[in-house]
This record gives sequence, C-alpha cells and structure tokens, in this order.
Amino acid sequence: MTRLSPWVRKLLVIVAIQKVLRSLARCRRRRYRRAGVPSTKAPRRRRWYRGLLVLAIVAIVAVLRSLARRRRGRFRSPGAAPPGPVPDDGAPFPYRPDEPHVEETVTLYAPPTPPGTPRYANAVPTNQSEEPLGEDQSLEPGAVVLLRVSIGPLDPDSLERSPVIFPDHLLPAEDVWLRVLVASSDFQVGADADDLARAELAVEKPFLLPADGSPAHTEREEQWLWFALRVPERTGPASARVNYYYRDALIQSQRLTAIVGTGRGRLEVVTDYTASALLHDLDEIPDTPRVSILLNDGPGTTHQLLLRPSRDTPAERSAVPISLPGESVGPLVDKLRVELARTVTSKRVHSSKQLENDLRRLAPLGRDLHRKLLVGGAGEVFQRLHQRPRPLLAVTRPKNVTFTLPWNCLYRIGLPSVPIEKVPVCPLVSEWKEREPLVDGPVDTCPWEEKGVSHAENLLCPFGFWGFGLTVESPASAWSAQARVKLMPSATVVVAETKSGIDRKSLDDHVARLQSMFDSGFPKAGVNVVPETTRAQIRAQLSYDLPLVYFFCHGQRDRVNSPDIYLGVGAKDIISVGDFIDWVEASWLTDQIIWHDVRPLVFINACEALEVSPRTLCSYVDAFVGLANAMGVVGTEVKVPQNLAMEYAEIFFNELLVRHRSISEAQQVARFAFLATGNLFGLAYTAHAWAHLTVVARSAVE
Ligand SMILES: [Zn+2]
Repeated sequence: MTRLSPWVRKLLVIVAIQKVLRSLARCRRRRYRRAGVPSTKAPRRRRWYRGLLVLAIVAIVAVLRSLARRRRGRFRSPGAAPPGPVPDDGAPFPYRPDEPHVEETVTLYAPPTPPGTPRYANAVPTNQSEEPLGEDQSLEPGAVVLLRVSIGPLDPDSLERSPVIFPDHLLPAEDVWLRVLVASSDFQVGADADDLARAELAVEKPFLLPADGSPAHTEREEQWLWFALRVPERTGPASARVNYYYRDALIQSQRLTAIVGTGRGRLEVVTDYTASALLHDLDEIPDTPRVSILLNDGPGTTHQLLLRPSRDTPAERSAVPISLPGESVGPLVDKLRVELARTVTSKRVHSSKQLENDLRRLAPLGRDLHRKLLVGGAGEVFQRLHQRPRPLLAVTRPKNVTFTLPWNCLYRIGLPSVPIEKVPVCPLVSEWKEREPLVDGPVDTCPWEEKGVSHAENLLCPFGFWGFGLTVESPASAWSAQARVKLMPSATVVVAETKSGIDRKSLDDHVARLQSMFDSGFPKAGVNVVPETTRAQIRAQLSYDLPLVYFFCHGQRDRVNSPDIYLGVGAKDIISVGDFIDWVEASWLTDQIIWHDVRPLVFINACEALEVSPRTLCSYVDAFVGLANAMGVVGTEVKVPQNLAMEYAEIFFNELLVRHRSISEAQQVARFAFLATGNLFGLAYTAHAWAHLTVVARSAVE
C-alpha cells in the first residue's frame, strides 16, 4: 500500500471532522426548523466554535499519536534500553547461511543533551598521603605515587584537560563490570604500595558502572579504585595508561604523562581513545574473547604496545607493555611492504610455484615482526592465539598515533635460521592440483594441520599469516560503538572516481555491478550509486545520508617532491586530510552536517600510481572516523592493480550487501577467494572497524 505523506493525512482528517460536524449542524438546523425556531445569530456563532473544536481535536489526536509512538519505542531516546538481547555468538565464524535477513528498525540519532549530573572518568595522581598532585609538579625519581580512579562527578582534582562526559541519559541497560587496567613501560605498577615489590608493569581491577547513573564502585562498594606507581629512577618524561575494558574490548584509554626530576614539572591526563564515549551502546559489542593490542607512540622513535590477554586465559597472565625501537621495526615493515607489493601483481591466478615463492618472500619478514613482539614480552599473551576457538585480535590505535603494523602479514609459524629455500612447504601448496581451489572458503586452520602435519615450526603455509588464521579487528577511536550502517530509503552511495590512468569502461561496469548488489541485497531501499569525478561534486554529496563512500582513486601529490600522498580523484583533483577536516568543520555551521545521522563505511581502493601509505591512511581514518563520525575505513597496505582491486571489492561488497555478512566475514571471504587461486593478494586489505560491522536497512521511516 502506498503511504501518504503526514501532511496529506492530517488534511484528510481535518476535512473528515469538518464533514461530520457540518452534518451534525445540518441535523440541528432541521430540528430548529421543525420546532419552528427562527433563524438567529446563535447557530452562526456556533460555526466559530466549530473551527476551534476542529483544531482542538486535531491537537489531541496529534498528542495521542505521539504518545503511542513513544510507547512503541520507535523514537527511543538513546537512554532507553538498547534493542534486543546481546548476541551470544558474536564470533565471526561459523557462518549461518540459512538465516533469513530481517530488515531492522534502528534507533534514530539524537544529539546528546545530558541532563543532571554527568559522569566523568577521573584519574588523579596523589602522593602517598593521598593528597592530589598539581599539574606543575614533577615526580621524584624512585618515589611512590598513587593513582585514584573514579567514574562519577568531575573530580575537582582531575588533571584531564578535556574530560569525557558519561551522560546520565545514555546509560547501558544494566549495571556493567568494567575492567580498569593501569599499565606502563616506565612506571612499575602495583595494586597498592606494598604490591610494588612484585615489580609488575600492569595491574587490572574490576569496577562496576551502575545503570542508574550513580558513580562506579568497587567490589567493596568503594567509589575510588587505587593503584600504586613507582616512579622510574631516571629523569625525563614518563607515561602510563589507564584503560577501561568492557567484554575484552577497549572502550576508553587515558594517557598520564609526567616529568621525572626536580623543579617545575608537567602532569597531564588525556583521553585519547574512546570506542564509545557515550557508553549507551556497549551492548552492541559482541561478547567474544579478544586479545587486545593498544598502540602508542613512545618517547623519541620508540613504539609502545600494550598487550592484554583475553578473559578466557589463566588469571595469572596479565597485560604486558612492550617497547619496540622504531629503528628496528621501521625498516622491517618497509621491507615487508615492498615484498607484499611484489606479490601483488595484476595476475589473478598464481601457480603452486608462484605461491611458494610468495611465501618464501613474505613469511620470513612477517616472522621477524612476530618475533619482535614475542621478545618484547608478548609470549604469554600470544599463546592464546594458537588455541581454538581462536580469539579476535583487537588492535586499537589512539587518535594521532600513526604507528601501526601490517598485522595480516605477521607470521605465526616458527622458521629456523637456515636459508629460506630449505624450509619445507606445507602439502597444501606442494600437493595442490592447480585446477582445483587451494582451499574451500574461510577456515581458521590449514586442512593439513588437521591431517597431522605439524604447523608449530619449520613450515611455510598461508595459514601461518595472521590474516588467514585470525580475525584482526581494529576499531578507530569514535563516539559510539554502534556497528550497524543504516541504509535509508533512496540513500545515495558516492563513488569518488579517478579519471586518469585507468580503464574507464571496466570501472563503469564495476560501478553498475555495485548498484545491482544494492538492488538485490536491499530491494526496497532504492539506493542510488552515483559516480562523481570532481572534488566539488564529491564534497556536495558528503552531507547526505551516505551508507557507503567508495573511493576508487589514486595516490597523488599536490606538487612534485611533496612527501605527502593524497587521494587523487577526477583528472587531477586531490582530497587531502586537511581539506576534509575543513569541510566537516564548515558543515557544522549549516544544517547539512557531514555524516551526522547516517554513519558511512568508507572504502578506499587506491589503485595504480602512488600508494597511500598506512601512515597516510591512519590520518584519513582519524579524520573520517574520529572527526566525521564514519563507522569504519577499509584501505590497502600497498597499491593494487585496477582489475584485482575491482574483483576484491566486488566479492567483499557482495558478502556485505547481498549476503548481509559482517565486515570481517566479507573480508575473509574475499581474502580466501584469492587464496583459492594461490594468490595472497587479500592480505593487502585492512579494515579499521569493528569486526561485527554490518549494513542494515531501515524498514520504516517516519
Ligand atoms: Zn598448512
């Protein structure tokens, strides 16, 4: 049935009421005539009352309808209970292919307007007498500092420059146990001052966040969670992290920085990672075991990683902070990317021999990187990665941290110190009959391992790469943990295209196929896939309800010799991170705010020409997700050829849109489709998003 617009419906109601009232008036006049009452002004005055009555009835109906709508929960305020139960099988595998797709009604976005007393995460350093330290205080070498953590009213002693509010009307549906982890590569950390004797670098404690908006409290009902820190003996800067986890997922991270020495210091606490600043949508995070890695830029060129085991590992294993010298990791990552780029040719089908060569090129470098983490102290935490069911590997990167690793290419199987030519190849590859698929669909273990071939060490096998055996999840810092991209009726999907150096005809066909995927996956939505080839046109589209923004572009420089690479579209237009940030800010002054209601997935297929480096990609991820509220970004580690870039994207989008898979499932299907023909190409794509991200249609729009 076609739906009438609300205004037409209201008009019809008014006309109907007037008709009823008129016929009542006619009856009355007939009664007067029969009774012989002469025509007076009284009935005419009643016309005036009639108008008022019509308006009153319309107003009452409107109020009743709005109340009914509220009761039905269609316009749930973000503070109301989140929809549906938490899925208890949040793990990406196994698939549920027979499950029919149900179009969901999702919560409308409402900007946060916190009433009452807001809650804040407070981390306050104090001396041993529990007296707060001032922001200009330095820390005495070897001294003991206490850290007082609370979630409640803003602590007057808080050193947080931009405190993050936990609004009262945006609460989780029920009380939730958070885990608060304090860790540092510089300070020793203890549960209390006596505990510092253990010389640990990380301590974790539970903290209950009540649903009624009251301050968080400990198991003993205390509002403060205490930790002890021993200041390093050396002078100079030192830092620690206060991390808040829910269901193994990092939801917020604060960085405490201090100066060790005498004289004037600088104590600071900054919240630089929020998976969900609002905390009302924590139930969206599936309850899946996660091994978590938090990335950080350390002092100088050092990189820091904080590894945390999943909850299902023995309790004695705690989080481990690791420092990696940039000088040793940087060149290794560069080499790995060069070899990955050599593996990524425009040839779709690789022979058994080619795959073997690709493995010999990539695996030793991926293994070296994996070893760097093990030597740093990841051993205990990484043991869990070898056990089944496999946990998710959650990699989180605070805003402005540009250090990351090509996680998919890290290699888990030990390799001996012999020439790589001497390392045997898994029968999966050596006995592969090339006419058949190398492997059937996404699985997390090599079929030959199940047949008894040990995959512990001295073996080259595609399943040694993290990208084939593990699901790597890397949500970017954002305001909300929601991971359902809303597809509004008649939504527009922008394809920002390059016009130079590509086969235009096949790109047009590619875009047409994307349109047909939306049509068959969401037949009622009427999605419009619109290719745009100029900066101005792309900008004009960005503030609409875009479920997907697809860059099929080049890496491009704004001038010769410029070190920065931008997204090149059209003939020679570029879209830099700076441009995009300016567009977002300018949009706040209008009612056409970029990505305000619908939060899109951004897919950057940067092909041919210059590659968009992971460092550059990180800055786009921060701008798209951190600033503009996108749900995630998919991008490549190296430049990719047009034909394979399109083929990968089509497999990926078909899973995401037509088969309604999650982003990690779609990624695995695409990666394994290439592996089936002996090609490691899929390792080049990384998703900066929650693993369970999906695209859903709105079934009804008011
Ligand atoms: Zn194998």
